[in-house]
Amino acid sequence: MNDYTTKSYWFTTRSYSINEPLKGTVSTDVLVIGGGYTGLSTAYHVKRLSPGSDVTLIESDIIGYGASGRNAGFIMTLFGFTLSLTKLRFGQERARDAQLYMQRAVDYSKELIEQNSLDCEFEYPGFLRVATTPHYVKRLQNELNLAEKLGLTGIRWIDKDNVREKIRSDMYLGALYEDRCGLVNPAKFAWELKRLCEESGVHIYENTPAESVKLKPSVTVKTPGGVIHAEKIMIALNAYSLHNRKLKRRQIPVTTHIVLTRPLNEKELDTIDWKERQGIEDARNLVHYYRLTRDNRLLMGGGNVALSYGKTVDRDPDEKIFTELKNNVRRTFPVLDDVEFTHRWSGPVSVPIDMSPAMGYVGDKRAVYSYGCVGHGVSITQLNGKVAAELLLENYSGLSDIFFVNRKVPPWPPEPFRYGLSFIIKKGLQLEDTIYERNV
Ligand SMILES: Cc1cc2nc3c(=O)[nH]c(=O)nc-3n(C[C@H](O)[C@H](O)[C@H](O)COP(=O)(O)OP(=O)(O)OC[C@H]3O[C@@H](n4cnc5c(N)ncnc54)[C@H](O)[C@@H]3O)c2cc1C
Repeated sequence: MNDYTTKSYWFTTRSYSINEPLKGTVSTDVLVIGGGYTGLSTAYHVKRLSPGSDVTLIESDIIGYGASGRNAGFIMTLFGFTLSLTKLRFGQERARDAQLYMQRAVDYSKELIEQNSLDCEFEYPGFLRVATTPHYVKRLQNELNLAEKLGLTGIRWIDKDNVREKIRSDMYLGALYEDRCGLVNPAKFAWELKRLCEESGVHIYENTPAESVKLKPSVTVKTPGGVIHAEKIMIALNAYSLHNRKLKRRQIPVTTHIVLTRPLNEKELDTIDWKERQGIEDARNLVHYYRLTRDNRLLMGGGNVALSYGKTVDRDPDEKIFTELKNNVRRTFPVLDDVEFTHRWSGPVSVPIDMSPAMGYVGDKRAVYSYGCVGHGVSITQLNGKVAAELLLENYSGLSDIFFVNRKVPPWPPEPFRYGLSFIIKKGLQLEDTIYERNV
């Protein structure tokens, strides 16, 4: 078994009891493969919609081992990459629908955590997307104009002085502000979702990878210690969908990195003056995201991303990216010039070629998939689980009418062209960032 505690700081913040792997042959009504937020939410909602159904979830490592236990914990409203890209790809109406779905996803996540008293260090401080150059000011104002044109509310522009009342850094020239954003300890969130599932009667097996998945003539999944026969199956593998024969060209894993400081002291906190503790992202294509943890460590993530070749999903992190992130902490908050960094880690996000989420049926109605949340999956996966449950049970409330269910996803080309294309896209995004950061 992989040592999960090395995969993110969050895994070290609570003790965790790992379930036994599956041994022998079992039959179940609904089998969920993958124990991240998508899989857990799906299992939970199947039980809510159909309490009599037998539901089994298998996870190759431990619950939250993938992106769900390693992310930055922003429960935020962004769908895919940017609102402009969503509009370009899907048109105005769908861009608005996507954003409304995301607002609902954030509200639903908040409700889920509060109503079930999930112990996951939840706070609800709002969100700032900061502009650090005049070009980024224009980019953000264009995004806001588009949001207003689509009739979306909840986002507003705040000027330089107002941003500096919220957090002190000379880098900020203005920001988009949104009340609707929460922060969690992501691993605790995943593990609390596991608790909810088990309390609802879901059987969860850890260290149980699906080795082969056969849909015909009936759903049969082999694991190292057993076999599962199921009526219906949910493939909740996100970036690991690369290993599924039917989904392997639909998305690629892209690795994003995080560094974490020791807890900041009173003097440092006073100087930064991050009073309301908003989650922050900048306006770059290869975005930096940062926040404070419950014990006032500063988490800085994002920037450059690392690409994988071939079948690798969980690639080794890139040391240069950790260094860039540390430099970005110092650039943003010079008072932290000497601060020690205690943790660093990375994880795979799932990126379709059009950088937008997708879910739906695989072939007939026995199998459902979900992937492609890019770096914005903490909230959407909670609502997607509800949609997946409706698809699996063929019990539709209208929620699954959202356009990204059963949408056609253009495939990535096979290797070596896949790597080449992803490299060109990344370089294009980086080049645009460089241009936006020059001539200031
Ligand atoms: C570093 C980082 C920072 C991020 N920050 C944010 C953020 O702040 N806000 C936000 O909204 N989003 C963020 N994201 C994205 C977000 O974490 C993901 O979109 C979300 O967690 C996806 O959940 P999931 O359940 O679909 O996938 P995953 O959590 O990846 O779950 C897939 C699971 O499948 C398991 N698995 C793989 N193969 C098998 C197999 N053969 N059999 C059984 N199980 C298998 C894996 O171990 C894994 O646990 C971030 C991601 C990363 C990596």
